[in-house]
Amino acid sequence: MKKYLIGLVLLTFGASVSAEECAAVVESNDMMQFNVNAMTVPASCESYTVTLKHVGQIPKQAMGHNWVLSTTANVQEIVNLSFGAGLENNYLPPGDDRVLAATKVIGGGEEDSVTFDVSMLSADESYTFFCSFPGHYAVMKGTLTVK
Ligand code: ZN
Repeated sequence: MKKYLIGLVLLTFGASVSAEECAAVVESNDMMQFNVNAMTVPASCESYTVTLKHVGQIPKQAMGHNWVLSTTANVQEIVNLSFGAGLENNYLPPGDDRVLAATKVIGGGEEDSVTFDVSMLSADESYTFFCSFPGHYAVMKGTLTVK
């Protein structure tokens, strides 16, 4: 009986670990920061889910954050268009396919998730995740690698 229980625990643990590998939680705060500056997406994942949490208290109008993924080469052009797009468009140019994945803009205490197909990413490409809220890109960014 004891042996059976241990086996069950290991099985359950193993399942939760593999599920976590295809998902990540990223935290943002009132100090205009992400808690990570590099992410790795396993190429073995079919899809990958990023959950962005805002652990601060300031509303999105003043300290909004989103998690946006694009190729590193396209980041600056997206950032240039973000202010004009406004909060109603989550500070992203609507329908722009250079935006590979994005959460909505959230404020303190909120969270939002986005799931994207890993097959659309290449291990040879350089990707950047960032916040497109005006002025945040300078510090709120990091690299995303497919391995
Ligand atoms: Zn931000």
